[in-house]
Amino acid sequence: MSLIVQKFGGSSVKDAEHVFNVAGIITDTYKAGNQVIVVVSAQGDTTDDLIAKAKEINPSPSKREMDMLLSTGEQISISLLAMAIEKLGFPVVSLTGWQVGMHTDSNYSAARIRKIEQERVQKELDKKNIVIVAGFQGINRYDDITTLGRGGSDTSAVALAAALHADLCEIYTDVDGVYTTDPRIVPNASKLEEITFDEMLELASLGANVLHNRSVEMGKKYNVNICVRSSLTKAPGTIVKEVVDMEKMLVRGVAKDSDVARISICGIADTPGKAFKIFSLLAKKNINVDIILQSIGRDNMKDISFTTPEDRLEEALQILEENKAVLDYQSLDYTKDVSKVSIVGAGMVSNPGVAAKMFEALYEAQINIHMIATSEIKVSVLIDAGCETKAVRAIHDKFELG
Ligand code: ASP
Ligand code: MG
Repeated sequence: MSLIVQKFGGSSVKDAEHVFNVAGIITDTYKAGNQVIVVVSAQGDTTDDLIAKAKEINPSPSKREMDMLLSTGEQISISLLAMAIEKLGFPVVSLTGWQVGMHTDSNYSAARIRKIEQERVQKELDKKNIVIVAGFQGINRYDDITTLGRGGSDTSAVALAAALHADLCEIYTDVDGVYTTDPRIVPNASKLEEITFDEMLELASLGANVLHNRSVEMGKKYNVNICVRSSLTKAPGTIVKEVVDMEKMLVRGVAKDSDVARISICGIADTPGKAFKIFSLLAKKNINVDIILQSIGRDNMKDISFTTPEDRLEEALQILEENKAVLDYQSLDYTKDVSKVSIVGAGMVSNPGVAAKMFEALYEAQINIHMIATSEIKVSVLIDAGCETKAVRAIHDKFELG
């Protein structure tokens, strides 16, 4: 007998028909002799609709009240799913985050899980119940409801799997796994059988929005094997785990991210401490900086360029302008018209030709590279916005990932 956690996203439970489809998957797993814990998200667009409702009343409600409101979406889906399973004749119980004892910090709308009680869920499993838990929500030390941030049900599921030492955590969604790149732009993208946590983290942060980032971090930390699969097909899905057969594939996937802006600080003194000053000012405001490029000093001057998410551009510029006197630079140059394209693969660490091959693909497609960044498992380039689809296709073909 195994303990399996199954998580179903909003699209998998969007209406009665889908709810019964999911109930079928759950009861099949139960009938096969497993203990089953289910985590479910709000149906379809419920969370977006609730946000819109709130805006009608108050354009800037407190985060506490938002969490109170948004957590209701999941409460609807757990009860409906439990009713469907009841109807199929199986023992089932639905539980909210607070009934389970899903303790979080008090950072409303982006709360982090601190601790999960095991007693209640364990007691229900011992009674042979299928246990349905509301995703995305928890409770803080004031007994107030919190939510984990958009897409947070994945994290609820992996956290429960870790806390109860589940054998597997299945994340059911509307795609049947993780692909070598976005199949909507590269039709011959192929599904990966396996991927490492680190590769998945890179791909998620680079815009392959299959899993909530924090769920992957949690999977890595507690070594929970995660299987991403579709609730609409029986296809086996993709397993996210610690080590995979790295020999097989140097480059696991190609990702693009259009949500990037580039800032260049031009004509800054070539003396120690400049980068420190710039990036600590940005860090204080929690502005995420990604690719950083510094030119070699010439005539005692240098330039420093970096990228940020588009919606942080204004703020970053404002900080730099306010500190112009301290930083002592000549000018700022910036643009939103850039995109980032990256290759990811744990196997590239010991294979020198990989970056060159990516650059060759871009050269053949006549795409100019503005900035380059590398790590052990990825190579990213910054290119003109609008070229990213062409770039992804060219690189995907070059590495024969299809
Ligand atoms: N219902 C929440 C959202 O839409 C949480 C989730 O789906 O994971 O973001
Ligand atoms: Mg999701």
